[in-house]
Amino acid sequence: MKVTIPKEEIERLMRLYGCNENQAAKAYLDAIEVSKNALEEELSRQLGRRKGLEGRSISLLTPHQIKEHLDKYVISQEEYKKRLSIAAAFHFAILKCLEEHPQDSGVKRFRKKNTIIAGPSGSGKTYCAEVLGDLLEVPTLIVDATDYTEAGYVGKSADDMVRELIDMAPGATRQEKAMFINTYGGIIFIDEIDKKAKDGHLIGHDISREGFQRAVLKLIERKYVSIDNPLSPSSQIQEVMDRQRGISGKQQEHMISTEKILFVVGGSFQRQHDDLETIVKERLKHQTGRIREDGSFVVVGFGSDNAWEKSQTMWNYYKEADADDYIRFGLIPELVGRIPIRSHVNLLSKNDLVRIMLNTEDSIIHQYIEEFKSFGIDITFDDSAIEYVAELAENKKTGARALVSVWESIFTEFQFELPGSNFKELTVTKELCQMPKDALLRMLKRSPFVDFVEGFKHEYGIELIMGEEVQRYVEDYAARNMIQVSDALKQLLKGGSSLNYMNIKGKFEITQEVLDDPKYFDRLFTEWYQKMNTEIK
Ligand code: ADP
Repeated sequence: MKVTIPKEEIERLMRLYGCNENQAAKAYLDAIEVSKNALEEELSRQLGRRKGLEGRSISLLTPHQIKEHLDKYVISQEEYKKRLSIAAAFHFAILKCLEEHPQDSGVKRFRKKNTIIAGPSGSGKTYCAEVLGDLLEVPTLIVDATDYTEAGYVGKSADDMVRELIDMAPGATRQEKAMFINTYGGIIFIDEIDKKAKDGHLIGHDISREGFQRAVLKLIERKYVSIDNPLSPSSQIQEVMDRQRGISGKQQEHMISTEKILFVVGGSFQRQHDDLETIVKERLKHQTGRIREDGSFVVVGFGSDNAWEKSQTMWNYYKEADADDYIRFGLIPELVGRIPIRSHVNLLSKNDLVRIMLNTEDSIIHQYIEEFKSFGIDITFDDSAIEYVAELAENKKTGARALVSVWESIFTEFQFELPGSNFKELTVTKELCQMPKDALLRMLKRSPFVDFVEGFKHEYGIELIMGEEVQRYVEDYAARNMIQVSDALKQLLKGGSSLNYMNIKGKFEITQEVLDDPKYFDRLFTEWYQKMNTEIK
């Protein structure tokens, strides 16, 4: 929309506020935005709530119903799913009460079921909250604590989280969006809270970290936060306008209470020294009979079957973490005290990863099937392939996140070559996953040598010549090392890109001498470089 600012208006503002022309113009535009919001708000006050909001109501879901939904997406992590389901069911039940009987709901100030979740990365901490938000159809904001500071420091403040959540809500104006959150609630998941823990080993960082925790503490309890950034020009103009209209302080309508927002804070609570697991382990060591000599932990209270008990050597100390352990880790006691629900997630096993691929509603495998199908290609997966990928992913120790990167590295070339080709079927086997490039080239009936030579030519404009004997040597090398021919070529011709810098044009022959010397190209480049230098001198 084009807005014309009258010249006299700009001059008046410059005179009145002693600002320059640019500042006046920007403030004027922001003020128009604010007044538009105010207009909408007044209209909705007089005409009743807009249809979008009116037509909605909070659905009452039981913890069982919520968990059943989470089960469709999130594998394992039973305890976390259960606790989160309880927290969400009861939080939103109260909101429903307040929605239906705002005056006589019997709840004046409710104690929130804020939750803390600890456990290894990539194991579903954030994902669970996202799935929950989808089910409840409320704005769900996932943030990294490290992106925020306490108010007053450079960077985003903790209060900005609330404003970002408002941004996600439906509504035509900020007031309307805020009203949505105020009625139907929202979820904020603050990840990496452990990175804001006090850490005796880091001098100088603790004050701001503690400050951030205090800021979060206020938010998760109940705080009125300005729905516009108080430092934004529009907010400042609003304040000036309010003052002129004789309204002191922030008007209620420009503020939102964080009471209706469910907070979950999470982190891996790992660090080089004194991580949460070590802290718990140390504490338990002093509790008689629970820690064995080798440091393993015995689960007690499951009957007297000795053999069974022995097999239950526990390695997840997160499970046993209590409030004091979190405080010892570096969270401030007040914050820990305000988060009544503590939970943990487990490191995902190979089995879990297989189930994540096969049994979840938004499984990555189903996604690939759909993606290839849209290019008319039917793709099927052998069990052996799934098992193999789960094993690779497990070894990466980044939880389920590794699944995506492992599959992408297997599929990249297939995703490039198959769409638009004559192939209408693809069976993914373990062998294909082990040597995807070779498998693809076999399918395309293309020699890996031709493929490499063509690729090199595209990249550097140099044609490599490889005789039959050289090719046979590379094939033997690949077989001996159980790697793909394409990878063998990459290894044996490491540093070959330096030909490009030596200004070599046309052809270059790969001889046995090149293959036998891993430093061949380095040497060639050094000789060339020295020669160049002496020529220049
Ligand atoms: P973090 O525990 O570090 O918060 P995330 O929840 O973000 O990890 O997990 C990363 C991704 O891995 C998710 O988006 C999801 O696709 C997948 N994922 C992680 N854990 C599980 C799980 N238990 N079940 C199903 N998928 C999972």
